Amino acid sequence: MIGPEFREIQIDLGALRRNVAHLKTVIGVEHLMIVVKADAYGHGMIPCARTAVDAGADWLGVADIHEALALRQAGIQVPVLAWLHSPREDFQEALANRITVGISSLAQLDAVASASYAWEDGPAPVHLKLDTGLSRNGIAPEEWRRVFERAAYLEGDGAIRVQGIFSHLAGAGPQADLAAHVLFEEGIAHARDAGLNPTMIHIAATATAVTSTSMRYNMVRIGIGAYGVSPDDSTPVADMGLTPVMTVRSRVAAVRKVPAGVGVSYEYAYVTNQPTTLALVPLGYAEGIPRSASNNAPVNVAGQIRTISGRVAMDQFIVDMGSEWVAVGDPVVVFGDPKRGHPSVSDFARACGTIGYEIVTRMGGRCVRVYVEL
Ligand SMILES: *Cc1c(COP(=O)(O)O)cnc(C)c1O
Repeated sequence: MIGPEFREIQIDLGALRRNVAHLKTVIGVEHLMIVVKADAYGHGMIPCARTAVDAGADWLGVADIHEALALRQAGIQVPVLAWLHSPREDFQEALANRITVGISSLAQLDAVASASYAWEDGPAPVHLKLDTGLSRNGIAPEEWRRVFERAAYLEGDGAIRVQGIFSHLAGAGPQADLAAHVLFEEGIAHARDAGLNPTMIHIAATATAVTSTSMRYNMVRIGIGAYGVSPDDSTPVADMGLTPVMTVRSRVAAVRKVPAGVGVSYEYAYVTNQPTTLALVPLGYAEGIPRSASNNAPVNVAGQIRTISGRVAMDQFIVDMGSEWVAVGDPVVVFGDPKRGHPSVSDFARACGTIGYEIVTRMGGRCVRVYVEL
């Protein structure tokens, strides 16, 4: 049997704690939301949420109401915002669990209002999500007026309370961000004209929160930065004062000496060019190692940074160690903290043609998650 030491995702909650505390200090806004959607970007939602709250987050953010309910079931009491809903979402359970609903349409607003009348526990707090250029969820600008007027009416009726207005940026460059910022300001002004009085305004996720002071308002929504991953993969996270939280560890499961000219793994996409030693690592695309890492991505084997040799298979990949000495059981780190000699997740992601966000979120399969406090 392949033991857990061969497939380990180490989560350093100490690093998460320090990242959250650091971001809170440098950003310095009234409210800090830590985004824990998608199982905290693959880091484990409940332990990460607890740690983030402990480190000073006063809000948590998720996409689905299901995720918000799981936080409540774990006994986490801080305000939670959920912003992505199914077309027939029933909001009663969300309201009963004091989950704040992000609203992206008139229909959602009315559905929350109905749930609020049925639940009869005072106005339901909502945050209106304005689309300022992403063209995905969020209320389209043509709809703003109708939604604001309806929201003002429902507020007067005691069904809802528009506590917040928010948006999300496309990350399409400074010009696009500026245009979105201007549009957002217009939306807020129109909402006020319609009689709404939101007290929480938020648009910035990690990239904007750390680089621009003008879009912090009184809350920022931080996901990737809290996990110690760079939002753009070209700025090392250490430059942002952050430490990677996830380290993917394995061990060499087998070693084989081969001559020159030997094809390695499927399709012989790699052929040895000298007599050499091959190390087998029992992680594959089932664990989230992208197949595009084949012949591209860095990996630390026995303390050396090498490149994956040949195709990544479902369960395993090979590393050509050349004349390096390597033994079964030697440590392997796929990515982790560059300060410890590991490839960064950004370097690994770039080699695979993707972004750090995707790599950390997809890791799993037969790996075991191990929580530590370093
Ligand atoms: C995922 C998400 C965030 C967090 O973004 P990061 O870039 O990970 O900080 C913030 N807001 C919304 C609406 C999101 O969907």
